[in-house]
Order: sequence, then C-alpha cells, then structure tokens
Amino acid sequence: TVGALGYGAYEIYGKRHPVEQKPFDPKKRTVVVLGSGWGAVSFLKSINTDDYNVMVVSPRNYFLFTPLLPSCTVGTIELRSIMEPIRFITRHKSRNVKFYESECTDIDPESKTISITDVSDVKGAVTNTTIPYDYLVMAIGADNQTFGMAGVREYACFLKEIWDAQKIRTRLMDCVESAGFASQAPEEVDRLLHMVVVGGGPTGVEYAAELHDFLKDDLETWYPELADKFRITLVEALPNVLPMFSSQLIQYTESTFKQNKIDVLTKTMVKEVGDKSIKVMDANKNMVSIPYGLLVWATGNCPRPLTRKLMARIKDSQTSPRGLLVDDYMRVAGAPDMYAIGDVTFSKYAPTAQVATQQGLYLASVFDNLARIEEGKNKKITPFEYSHQGSLAYIGSDKAIADLPFLNGNVSVGGVATYVFWRSVYISNMFSFRNRFLVVGDWMKSKVFGRDVSR
Ligand code: FAD
Ligand code: NAD
Repeated sequence: TVGALGYGAYEIYGKRHPVEQKPFDPKKRTVVVLGSGWGAVSFLKSINTDDYNVMVVSPRNYFLFTPLLPSCTVGTIELRSIMEPIRFITRHKSRNVKFYESECTDIDPESKTISITDVSDVKGAVTNTTIPYDYLVMAIGADNQTFGMAGVREYACFLKEIWDAQKIRTRLMDCVESAGFASQAPEEVDRLLHMVVVGGGPTGVEYAAELHDFLKDDLETWYPELADKFRITLVEALPNVLPMFSSQLIQYTESTFKQNKIDVLTKTMVKEVGDKSIKVMDANKNMVSIPYGLLVWATGNCPRPLTRKLMARIKDSQTSPRGLLVDDYMRVAGAPDMYAIGDVTFSKYAPTAQVATQQGLYLASVFDNLARIEEGKNKKITPFEYSHQGSLAYIGSDKAIADLPFLNGNVSVGGVATYVFWRSVYISNMFSFRNRFLVVGDWMKSKVFGRDVSR
C-alpha cells in the first residue's frame, strides 16, 4: 500500500518513525533549545538524547540553508530545496527530541521557565503556556537592522527568511509587469525598473549579483522592450563593499559589478525611506533622492525583541546593546544554566553560519562532558575555540570570491573556478542528501530551461 511504501521510504532513508520515540524521562534534566536555525540544528545533531530530555521551540518548523537564499529570490533555486523539516532531525534515528512550533515570548531566568505562544494561523484551545527548563539554549538568531528608520519595514524587503525571498520575487515581477503596462510614462518605467539594494555586506552583494544574472539571462530575453531600462544600484555607507574580504577581492568585486553595470554608490548613507524613493547623503554630504521600484534592505543584524527583553531583565550583566554577552563556554552572563550560540550573541566573531555551527557542536560536547562528569568520569570542559574555514561570496556572471586560510596566511581567489568551488562547498555543507539532490536538480533545470519569469 501507499502507507507501507511511505513507511518503507522512511525506514530506508532515515530509519526514523514516530513509533520509535520514547516519552521524556522524569529522572533526566530537560534542555530547552530556542530556534531551528544553524546554531540549534548543529547542537541537536550532536546532543546525546540518552543523557537529557531535549525540547525545541521555534516559530519555524524547518531548518533554512541561508547561504543559498539569494538564489531563491530569482528562481535559480526553489525555496523548498533549501528547507528541511525540523522533524528530520528531532526524529532522526535514535534521536528523541520534542518540538513545539511556537514563539518564545518571555524568559524568566529566576524561575527557569519560558512562555511560549502558538504561531499557527489555525489555533487550538491552548495557545499560550509556560515550560520549565533545567538548561536553556538560546539560538534565536537576530533581527534585521533598520536603525529605527521610518519606512524601512513598510516599504523595503529584507532577505533573511523564506517569506522575504518570496516577497522580493513578487515585487520584482510586479515592477517589471507594471513597467510594461499600457501608456506608462517613461520616467515611471525608469523608476519601476530601478532596483536598489542597501548594504554592501555579503547579503547585499550576493543579492545584487543574483538579480543581475536574472536580468541578463532571462528578463532581457522575455521583456526585450524593457531590456535597456533595467538598473541595479547598490548603496553602501562605507568606502567599499565587503569589508570582511581582502582588498584584492574587494577591488575584483567592484570591477566585476562595474562590468555588469551595477552602480555601486559607496560612502553613501540612506537617511530616509519613502514608498517610491530613498534619500541618501552622498560622498560629498549632499542629500540626493533616488527613485526605486524594488528596495532590498541588507544592513546587518540587531537583537530580536525577546533578546532585548531578556537583556533588560539581567541588565547588570548584559551591558552590550548588540547581543547577548556570553563567556568562553557559551554561558549567558547573569543567567544561570542558560547558554547562547550564533547570531543572538555579541561575540568577537562575525555573525555567520560557520560560527553558529561550531558553537552548536561545541555546546553539545559541553553537555556530553557534563553528563560524564556527573557519572563520576574524569572529563575537562575546555573553552570554545573558533576555527575560521574561510569566507566565500557569489558576485554574479558565474564568478565567486574566496578568502581561504592557508598555512599561516590567507589565499584570495576569485573567478569562474572559484564559483565551481563555491558551489561544491555549499552542496557539501547542505543539510541532507535530499537538499543536495534538489539543489543540483534546480541548477540543472535553470541552466537548461532558464529561470521561470512567472510571478
Ligand atoms: P538563525 O539561523 O537565524 O536561526 C534562528 C532561529 O530562531 C530560527 O529558526 C527562528 O525561527 C528562531 N526564532 C526566532 N525567534 C524566536 C523566538 N522568539 N522563539 C523561538 N525561536 C525563535 N553565513 C555563513 O557563514 N555563510 C554564508 O554563506 C551565509 N550566507 C547568508 C546569506 C543570507 C541571505 C543570510 C541572511 C545570512 C547568511 N549567513 C551566512 C549568515 C547565517 O545565516 C547566520 O549567521 C546564521 O543563520 C546564524 O544562525 P543562528 O542559529 O544564530 O540563527
Ligand atoms: P553586514 O553587517 O555584513 O553588512 C551591512 C552593510 O550595510 C555594512 O557594510 C554597512 O556599512 C551598510 N549599511 C548600514 N547602514 C547603512 C545605511 N543607512 N546606508 C547604506 N549602507 C548601510 O550585513 P549582511 O550583509 O546582512 O550580513 C549579515 C551577516 O551574515 C554577516 O556576518 C555576514 O558575514 C553574514 N553573511 C555571510 C555571507 C557569506 O559568507 N557569503 C552571506 C550573507 C551574510
């Protein structure tokens, strides 16, 4: 039967099924993990659920492979190809983890409880509850930085979550179709086809690169009457884009963008955001208005409301407005039995998936050692040490850049060969074989048939 086949597929692929799950053991300590992103998943993949009752609370019942999210905004990759249901981890093989799709709205470090709210649109009778924890792992990531600027949340699109990529895609196609509308005024066509990206960090650069490819490879073919009117502008407050890369790669990126006719406005800071234009202060300190059709906002991270609420509760120990302060063992300052990993923290490392993954893995080993120490075994808990594996970014026209540690130095490479390397690194880092299979399929599909230009 279909049911039997379905079960068979689970048996062969992952050897997991709800039947195998055991109830929580009241004799064990309970670890509550907040989040289902890079840090949480890396922790969950390694934590030994024979030692602890493990529970996950997240408003997202899936893991999202963020490095390929910019490719989803233009349809090179389908959204579901970079998502993996969280239950794939929580019910995988012998792992025994409870999951609640809900948002944590409050944390009380004194009573060691969290308040959670059901986030689904179809709600049951109980929508809010309180859960006690013995240990809490904060892995809720960060919010989009807006600097409190009016209009950003209203008119711009972010690029962090699945729905952001969907919104960008819809807005872009709306702009293109409206520009082609009967008797549209020429200046309105110019505005609608002007795509502005704010922030020259890796998110802004990779999005501008993907957008360029889509315009060149697909939109110009399907909309020949608009082909010479598409424009992309990247606005960056600092003197150059990608400050975390070597100067050689910064130059290479800026010259590739120039060849690709992406205008890069450096030393230019956005000051106001309206529904059809932004006001910027340019390099000569003049205020200039830039009309746009699509506005993508990628100016980095700031703490989420829950993080700020927790920081306010333990404000004597939490003195940084930029994220949770943790010690070298990922313990949250001022909150007993609470740990934090990934973008939620303010640490000396950049907020990247690479850091969050290593911290998650490290924390699972800390919990393992704690359990062994309780059994009377001689184990030592050493501080977290970050090992930088390099930085990669896609810059368009099948070119990528890479800063890689080599011996005691650094190697900077860029070009088409680096793009092949970029692809292979991301494919090998994908969450599951299923994700790899789907992404490779999407790459082949968009090469053969072009990207889908439907809304
Ligand atoms: P996240 O992965 O953001 O996960 C946070 C989780 O917490 C989510 O599941 C969220 O739903 C959940 N959550 C939120 N609020 C609550 C709440 N109140 N209660 C419970 N759960 C909550 N890094 C790299 O190293 N390499 C790259 O190539 C790269 N590319 C990127 C591309 C893009 C477009 C973006 C946006 C980021 C990229 N990054 C990259 C950065 C990387 O994605 C982040 O550093 C990483 O996601 C941080 O992991 P995290 O677990 O801290 O947070
Ligand atoms: P970011 O913080 O790296 O860059 C944001 C940029 O926006 C900065 O250069 C800043 O000067 C600029 N900016 C801020 N306010 C501005 C304003 N008002 N006007 C104009 N420019 C303004 O942010 P991001 O690119 O979103 O990345 C967030 C994190 O995710 C970083 O740690 C990054 O390394 C990581 N990430 C990594 C990759 C990758 O490795 N390929 C890709 C995406 C994100």
